Amino acid sequence: MSVRFNLDAGLLFNADIPAEAAATVEKMVGEANKTLFRKGVPAGVPEDEIGRIEDFSIAGSVLGLRIRSGPYTRAHDALFRFRKLIAPSLGKFRLGLRDMEIRSFWIEMRGEFPEGFRMPKLPFILSADRSGDTLKISLRMEAADLENKVPDRLVRLIEEKFQSATYGGKAEHWELIFSSGPKRTMNDSDPTEQMIKQGWIRHALSRGQWIHGPQSVRLWRTFEKIVLDEIIAPLGFTEMVFPKLTPWEVWKKSGHAKGVYPEIYYVCTPKTRDPEYWEDVGDYFKVTGEVPVDMIRERIDGPIGGLCYAQCPSFWPFVQGETIANDCLPIRVFDRSGTSHRYESGGIHGIERVDEFHRMEILWLGTAEQTVGIADRLHEAYMRVFENILELEWRCARVTPWFMAQEGMVGTAQDTITTPSETACCADRVGTTDYEALLPYSGSWLEFQNVSINGNKYPKGFSVKIQSGTECWSGCSGIGLERWSASFLAQKGLDPANWPEKVAKIYGEPEEIFRFM
Ligand code: ATP
Ligand code: ZN
Ligand code: MG
Repeated sequence: MSVRFNLDAGLLFNADIPAEAAATVEKMVGEANKTLFRKGVPAGVPEDEIGRIEDFSIAGSVLGLRIRSGPYTRAHDALFRFRKLIAPSLGKFRLGLRDMEIRSFWIEMRGEFPEGFRMPKLPFILSADRSGDTLKISLRMEAADLENKVPDRLVRLIEEKFQSATYGGKAEHWELIFSSGPKRTMNDSDPTEQMIKQGWIRHALSRGQWIHGPQSVRLWRTFEKIVLDEIIAPLGFTEMVFPKLTPWEVWKKSGHAKGVYPEIYYVCTPKTRDPEYWEDVGDYFKVTGEVPVDMIRERIDGPIGGLCYAQCPSFWPFVQGETIANDCLPIRVFDRSGTSHRYESGGIHGIERVDEFHRMEILWLGTAEQTVGIADRLHEAYMRVFENILELEWRCARVTPWFMAQEGMVGTAQDTITTPSETACCADRVGTTDYEALLPYSGSWLEFQNVSINGNKYPKGFSVKIQSGTECWSGCSGIGLERWSASFLAQKGLDPANWPEKVAKIYGEPEEIFRFM
């Protein structure tokens, strides 16, 4: 996609610009076009892609500018650079720069627009017309919006919509990297049904929520022990507790604020904790037996954020703004302190696709090489667990993580992960590996965990540096306990007598603590 920026602006001075100043303006315009606007532009970029003042006019106290650009030193950047240059030069005519007016600003984007492309609805857009391969967007912008880089974000947003319409939403890249091959399976039914029948779990009262009984939880703790003994301890991870209520501040920095809205469980706070303010709400319930949701809606603020969606973003404020000493890298931590919540809507299924679930989240950070190194060791450790301990029929594949698709990190030149020389070795390793298990009862595959190398995304978002000065990278891996259970039980059944020996041994004998009459 090619892009052009067209800006007509006026610089407002405190007095009329005298005729003899015209020569100075002309000289400055020439200088700006020749040198100032070329600063930072890579060699070899064609002339017409770089910002340029095509014309200027003097009328009373206003210096009018017509600026055009391609993607380099964009018209609005050129305007601010020129302002810095011209203000002192006209000072000698006793002129002071008072204000700036944006007379018109429009962007042209050219490319083969796919069918599903939809123009985003935003307050700045005066009109958006597409004819053939050209989209022309007129914007109402204040100088502050330009300075705040709104046009750049808008262009990026349109490029993202363009790409997602071209390549589709979530169904992107999928590349098999390992397959265990067929294993003997002991079950051909849906384990959720079996768990209900045998009293391991019961539906809870919220949607996509289960109450897990002793047998089910015992299996989770068995998995946790395996993970602790075989992965966490040998690889040197240490336990932390990450918060489970995520404020917008965190999601703004992690990037989730760009697109997680349809799946959030939103969190609100009361407008006041004054009992009198709430008295009639309680009274309404006392009399009717119903909770008056509409009354409550009027009395709450927010949402201030949501319940834990991805587990790792909440870790990052712990190191935000810090430079981490070399001798403690790579940092290796994990969290298993609470639930994750996603509004899965109609997608809910069994115990494996629910609105409330449990995960162990493993997180590490360091140099690019350290980050990739840990991901590789982690993969090897998982491999041993799935092959030798759980004896699963499983496979894993490299996929494009949704946040990268969402954030246009894939395929766009401007927003790809930066690759300075010290990270060049690892740049092509950024991405996610999904681990999937066969569900014999349906013949389909279930993603039960993943390992992600997130590049500099989180350190950049949360301003985290490392002592060496090289780029800080991070990775994470989410072990879904419901998904491990669903995978394992679907293949092995619920009778520990049929389970791999090591698992059965750790599991032991569950207690029967409920008897219903
Ligand atoms: P899916 O494509 O199956 O919805 P996802 O790509 O949304 O999965 P991630 O965001 O990668 O999943 O989440 C990491 C891990 O969290 C998954 O591998 C899985 O173990 C677990 N997980 C995600 N969503 C759910 C859910 N609704 N119920 C249970 N576990 C889940
Ligand atoms: Zn994570
Ligand atoms: Mg999902």
